[in-house]
Amino acid sequence: MNAFQDLLQTPIEFLKGVGPAKAELLRKEVGIAVYEDLLQYFPFRHVDRSKFYKISELQESLALVQLKGVVSSFELVGTGPKQRLVAQFTDGHGQLELIWFQSIRWVQATIKVGATYVVFGRPALFKNTYSLVHPEIEPVSDVQNGKGLMSLQPVYNSTEKLKLRGLDTRALARCTWQLLEATSNQISENLPLGLRQHFQLVDRKAAYKQIHFPDSLEKLEEARRRLKFEELFFLQFGMIYNKRARKAAQRGHVFSHVGQYFNSFYQDHLPFELTDAQKRVVKEIREDIRTGQQMNRLLQGDVGSGKTVVALLTMLLAVDNGFQACLMAPTEILANQHYQSIQALLGELPVKIALLTGSTKVKDRRILHENLRSGALHFLIGTHALIEPEVQFHNLGLTIIDEQHRFGVAQRAKLWAKNTIMPHVVVMTATPIPRTLAMTLYGDLDVSVIDQLPQGRKPIKTMHATDAHRLKVFEFMRQEIAKGRQVYVVYPLIEESEKLDLKDLTDGYESISRAFPLPNYRVSIVHGKMKTDVKQFEMNRFVTGNTHIMVATTVIEVGVNVPNASIMVIENAERFGLSQLHQLRGRVGRGAEQSYCVLMSSNKLSADAKLRIKTMCETNDGFKIAEVDLELRGPGDLAGTQQSGMVDFKIADLTTDAEILRQSRQAVEAIFQHDAELQQADSRHLVQAYKQYHRRHKNWSAIS
Ligand code: ADP
Ligand code: MG
Repeated sequence: MNAFQDLLQTPIEFLKGVGPAKAELLRKEVGIAVYEDLLQYFPFRHVDRSKFYKISELQESLALVQLKGVVSSFELVGTGPKQRLVAQFTDGHGQLELIWFQSIRWVQATIKVGATYVVFGRPALFKNTYSLVHPEIEPVSDVQNGKGLMSLQPVYNSTEKLKLRGLDTRALARCTWQLLEATSNQISENLPLGLRQHFQLVDRKAAYKQIHFPDSLEKLEEARRRLKFEELFFLQFGMIYNKRARKAAQRGHVFSHVGQYFNSFYQDHLPFELTDAQKRVVKEIREDIRTGQQMNRLLQGDVGSGKTVVALLTMLLAVDNGFQACLMAPTEILANQHYQSIQALLGELPVKIALLTGSTKVKDRRILHENLRSGALHFLIGTHALIEPEVQFHNLGLTIIDEQHRFGVAQRAKLWAKNTIMPHVVVMTATPIPRTLAMTLYGDLDVSVIDQLPQGRKPIKTMHATDAHRLKVFEFMRQEIAKGRQVYVVYPLIEESEKLDLKDLTDGYESISRAFPLPNYRVSIVHGKMKTDVKQFEMNRFVTGNTHIMVATTVIEVGVNVPNASIMVIENAERFGLSQLHQLRGRVGRGAEQSYCVLMSSNKLSADAKLRIKTMCETNDGFKIAEVDLELRGPGDLAGTQQSGMVDFKIADLTTDAEILRQSRQAVEAIFQHDAELQQADSRHLVQAYKQYHRRHKNWSAIS
């Protein structure tokens, strides 16, 4: 019996021909630690094996070869367990041995001396003679009739270090072949038969065999589809399963009351009518927070869609129900701005509100901490300074997190680790996540979408310009400034080349200062290397309309709100990703005036950069932009997905597998629809299978 309960969890070093040194390398280089990892180390392509080698061409480095020739003789060699059947095999170009330790009788009965066969196996060299041990062997007529011909050979990713230790693609194929033979009856089915039939999925064992060593392209495709389906299925099943478990287990504060704070703000202080989308989202939240279950909600809304006021209304509901609320923003500038705009919106409403950032003075901090603990403070707005241990709430009922992708999951968890009952959580993001991705990555959250901009907004006009147009762009800036508007000029700042970028920025600032001289024009500059108070001062000059132009790096990317700004000039636009461009553009078009975005680039553009710029010029729709971004970069690079830890797919690829994703989603939904409590046998098996799947998934990522 195997020492490991589950054969597939056997450390890879015990696989024949691996051993401790190679095992260590496999683990480090490609994350293969146990048998199962190797089975799931899928080939990235296959080569056509319809090629026949000549015996004279054989090399030991060939993993699997196919030969055509004649069996010229048989001989039984040795005795006992070492007894083997050796056949001489010739193809007119040489001779080799076919060796069997098992099934000797079967071979003797079926393989005929003098007949022509096609054989397939791993060539081994011993004393100048090649041999194939336990080759696949078929009469040439069968092969020519297309029966059982395996023409597709797997190609695996290997690394330099692996290759140096002899673990090239061929060796990996060899190991996998051997492992499949040894473990195939351990690969148990984990999807119910009915489901497999409905979605025409091949069984799991066959899928593993066929994805490595397919009989045909069709079989390969079936195998790939089955394994992708399985991966996406369990991911989504787990999301819903866990969400339900969490909801059942996690008590939440009950915000049943709509009181004075909410009502008087809504009736007397709200400076505009909410959009229908905002109203719908407020309603979704209100319904959610009175159930007694803890709310975990993702609030998606394009830049400028008005998420802040929705957050504020929710915070007021917390106060109406006797709770404190906090709002956490990723930067000091943003926290400041939230603080100011929320204070302005609240007017003389008796809500006690404070700001806490890295630059809050020690003395102020002490008072703040006290008021927070006593419950005298209603709202706390700030940066990640909020998660410091000395920040203790009297009764935190609601946490709002702005621009969620800037915070790690661990950071977020700290916020509520202090509380026995978790506060309700709203995570706001202005990075639209394509629908396909959202349901996969955030299936464990409830999602609200503000898919409508406030009335009267004019779509931003976007154009592409090169250096040759610079004077025209300056002229256009002058015209807008003459109308009383303000302008952003943004430079990329990408860490590896920070110094160069900073020089770009300061050069740009100088040339703009020359083109827009005092006393008629005033220009601000803001970048990440500045001291916080200087930065703040410069920001404020622009926010209050004291300066006409803000030259900045992407520090202004997120959330900054200056409705009077009407032009966003993005320098070196080709260096920005789509979602960043969209975020930046969202800084303008916040007032009633027509706004513009100018994408400056060099003349030489890569195909991707061209498509990004074209997409920006064609649409303002964040969701459309996100779809293109997803296609260009794949899900792993999309903002907001890195922290999810869910994009580490073994085989599925969300950019290309939308259809499989849709079907697997449908399958998951059907299960919860027909058997909500997961009581039926099939459902119970699925829960078991999921838990196993999940455990292995976790093991795998913990190792890599
Ligand atoms: P974002 O969703 O990008 O955070 P904000 O909450 O900053 O957007 O809102 C952008 C601007 O739109 C703010 O000036 C805000 O006061 C304004 N606003 C929000 N909702 C409405 C509305 N329903 N009607 C008019 N203006 C609105
Ligand atoms: Mg915002």
